[in-house]
Amino acid sequence: MCSSDMSIDQKVYITKTNHSKLEKTDLINPIFGKVYADHMLRCDFTKGVWQDLKIIPYSDISISPANTTLHYASTIFEGLKAYRNIHEEIVVFRPQDNAKRMVLSASRMCMPGIPESIFMTGINELLKLDQEWITNHPGTSLYVRPFQIATDPYIGIRPSDDYTFMIITGPVGAYYSKPLKVKIETNYTRAVIGGTGFAKTGGNYAAALKPAIEAQKDGYDQLIWTDGLLHEYIEESGTMNIMFIINDTLITSPIGDTILNGITRDSILTIAKDRGMKVEERPISTSEIIQSIEQGNLQEVFGVGTAATVAHIKTIGYNGIDYELSDVKSRKYSLEFLDTLNKIKLGAIEDKFGWIHKIN
Ligand SMILES: *Cc1c(COP(=O)(O)O)cnc(C)c1O
Repeated sequence: MCSSDMSIDQKVYITKTNHSKLEKTDLINPIFGKVYADHMLRCDFTKGVWQDLKIIPYSDISISPANTTLHYASTIFEGLKAYRNIHEEIVVFRPQDNAKRMVLSASRMCMPGIPESIFMTGINELLKLDQEWITNHPGTSLYVRPFQIATDPYIGIRPSDDYTFMIITGPVGAYYSKPLKVKIETNYTRAVIGGTGFAKTGGNYAAALKPAIEAQKDGYDQLIWTDGLLHEYIEESGTMNIMFIINDTLITSPIGDTILNGITRDSILTIAKDRGMKVEERPISTSEIIQSIEQGNLQEVFGVGTAATVAHIKTIGYNGIDYELSDVKSRKYSLEFLDTLNKIKLGAIEDKFGWIHKIN
C-alpha cells in the first residue's frame, strides 16, 4: 500500500498548555531552530485511516528503538512561514502548495499522503492558538514545520503500516541576508535522475552535510550543486533554488527528478513574467556561467527559498577560482523581487496571484 486519501472528520481536539513560554521568549531575535511555540499538532495514520487530529502542548514524543524511520529514513517534511501583516492579520504564504508537495514527497517515499484538508485545518487551528507568537516587527515570522514519519516498530525494509503527521512552529528573527560566497560542487552529488531529489525527504539533507562542511572549511557559505552525471549543469543550492540574470534575462534550471520544486522559485518566476521580463527555464552549464562572468554579462545571482526569500550571492568558486560578482546594492531585479514578495506577504500591495491564506 503506497497511498491512501481516506480522511476523517476534521474536528481538532485541543489541549492547551498551562506553562506558556511566550513571556520568556525573545520574538525579535530568537535562535532559529531552537525555540518552539507552545503547541503542536498531531494526526496518526492507523488501520489505513488518518485519525485522532489533535493539538497538544509542545513536548517530546516517544518512539520505539525499532522505529523504522530511525533506521531507514522514512521521513518527509515541509517548511513555510506565517506573518502578522500591516492590518494585524495572521497570514500564510501559499500553504496549499506545501500541502500538495508533501503528498508528492509521500508518494515517492511510499507513505500515505496527508489530505490537504487535514494539513490546512491543522495549520489554521495551530496558528489561531499560537498567534501571539507572531509579531509585526519587520522581518520576523513564525516558521511552520509539518513533517511525517513512519512509526512501525519493525526492523525490516518495507513500507510502514502506521505513520504520524505533526506540525511544530518556531519564531524566526529578522533575516540578515549577508551576501553569500558559494562553491560550485563538481565532485559530490546531491541527486540523480530516478532518485529522490525532488522530494523533501530527510536522507537528501543528511547526505549533503559532508560536502557542505568541506566547502565551509574552504571558506564558502554554501554549495551550488551540479548534475550527478557530468557535473556540468547547475541544479540548486542547499535549501534554495538558484537564479541567474544574464543580459536582463532571468534564467533558472528546469525542475525535474533532481531539483526541488520551490514555491519561492515559482513565485519569483511568476512575478518576473508579470512585469514583462524575459524568463528562461532551461539547463544552464557551468561554462556558460563562467563565460558570462568573464564577458561581464552576469548581472545577478541569487538563491530563492522560504528561509531567506532572496539570498544574494556575491562570490562563486569554481575549480579553485573565486569569481567576484556585482555589488549587491546595484541588483535591481532581485531587490525588486524581494520587495514585491514582502509587500504581498505584508498586505502592502494587492495579492493579485491569490497567494495569501488568512487565518481567522
Ligand atoms: C525547501 C527547499 C527549497 C525551497 O523551496 P521553497 O518552497 O521555496 O521554500 C529548495 N531546494 C531544496 C533542496 C529545498 O529543500
